[in-house]
Amino acid sequence: MTSFFEMEFRSGIGFDSHPLTKGRKLVLGGVDIPHGQGLSGHSDGDVLVHAIMDALLGAANLGDKGSHFPSSDPQYKDISSLILLSRVRMLVAESGWRLSNVDATILAQNPRLSQFNLDMQKSVAKTLSVEPSRISIKITTTDHLGFIGREEGIAAIAVVSLVSGDRTQPVQIDHETI
Ligand SMILES: [Zn+2]
Repeated sequence: MTSFFEMEFRSGIGFDSHPLTKGRKLVLGGVDIPHGQGLSGHSDGDVLVHAIMDALLGAANLGDKGSHFPSSDPQYKDISSLILLSRVRMLVAESGWRLSNVDATILAQNPRLSQFNLDMQKSVAKTLSVEPSRISIKITTTDHLGFIGREEGIAAIAVVSLVSGDRTQPVQIDHETI
């Protein structure tokens, strides 16, 4: 068992935004949100999960999600971003880090997302194999300012804290989410 004084701490930040377009499902935090349009992108366009992925990779200094999951690769077309998040979780664990907490903010003018907050929190927590209390998701508008305010897109930012884990421990793989 590592003592507190031998522990290391890291933090990482992530940002993502995608355009809203008709004919796409809106998926945020792995949760289907009923809305007239969805986020376009090579994968499912889940900006919340993408921001969290980049924050995790940044905290562990493992590059960015584009270097791990290039949008030019057809295997990632329309893929659920939760699958990619699960892979990032394994990369971070293999590097000797475990998650302390995630704090994220979704910036969306519409639709109202507060009723989906708990489902998004649970979905992200399950994929990251942590208690939902370690995942904070906040929702805000931009008071009609900019591309978010004009409902042309949705963005998300995330901050992640990691603590040093035990590299000798086998990595737990949650087959349900892969
Ligand atoms: Zn993205």
